[in-house]
Amino acid sequence: MSTSDAPRYPLILVPGLLGFISLLGYPYWYGIVSALRQLGANVFPVLVSSVHSTEVRGEQLLLRIAEVLQQTGAEKVHLIGHSQGALTARYAAALKPEWVASITSVAGPNHGSELADFLKRKAPHGSLRHRLLSALLRAVARVMAWLERGYKGPPLPMNVDAAQQSLTLEGVAAFNVQYPQGLPDTWGGEGAAEVNGVRYYSWSGTIQPSITNKGGNRFDGPNVACRLFARTFQRESGQCDGMVGRYSSHLGTVIGDQYPMDHFDIINQTFGLVGKGAEPVKLFIQHAQRLAAEGL
Ligand code: CA
Repeated sequence: MSTSDAPRYPLILVPGLLGFISLLGYPYWYGIVSALRQLGANVFPVLVSSVHSTEVRGEQLLLRIAEVLQQTGAEKVHLIGHSQGALTARYAAALKPEWVASITSVAGPNHGSELADFLKRKAPHGSLRHRLLSALLRAVARVMAWLERGYKGPPLPMNVDAAQQSLTLEGVAAFNVQYPQGLPDTWGGEGAAEVNGVRYYSWSGTIQPSITNKGGNRFDGPNVACRLFARTFQRESGQCDGMVGRYSSHLGTVIGDQYPMDHFDIINQTFGLVGKGAEPVKLFIQHAQRLAAEGL
């Protein structure tokens, strides 16, 4: 089944906040799983709690990894995480490095999301706004769980406050003290290429109005949302994808941090509607070939 272009270890894809595998057949990794499989890769999009702390999600991911190892007979897996999925993957690799060949962070808030901090300031704990936002998030997550068709396991717990805390600058800073593997030493720098036998990679995009707002994104709601969210950024103003800043995304070897893509374009959402000339699926294919070329 596999070809020389395909990685030898299975690829596990870990979604972010409000993540899913397949909503009534509609995939989170739009066109990405199929393209990777066409390359000959063994691909497993997995589900962890769509709204919860990175640690809780990470423990769930360890169970998924164990299942994939058992099912495939592979010695290790590659973990590719989008958004909070990157932090989740980092947690799993920190605890079980012997199970993990590589971690790849795709638009991961590895130093926190300024959007999470903005929401915390505007809707402080205990406020009416906080209660309304939490109720909305819980309702959306429940509907999504009801529509989920790709996940077969037991119901997954949900905790809005834990999820938010896991994404703020302060929350991620605390997480990073415990799980620093692959982080850069300096702001905007690259991290170690390999820690405890695990390779670390990252890529991310930024909103570039003349490119990201054109093409298919003219018809894409999430792009409008990302443009609005981008206004809440201060430290990385003008240098973010709407949810994660350019330098905040850095982990291990930085493959690229200025692809003209918003936070959802980078996983080819929605329905493949992305900015002019953006090629998110190609980045996944090239990365799979990169891992294969490394003998992984
Ligand atoms: Ca889009």
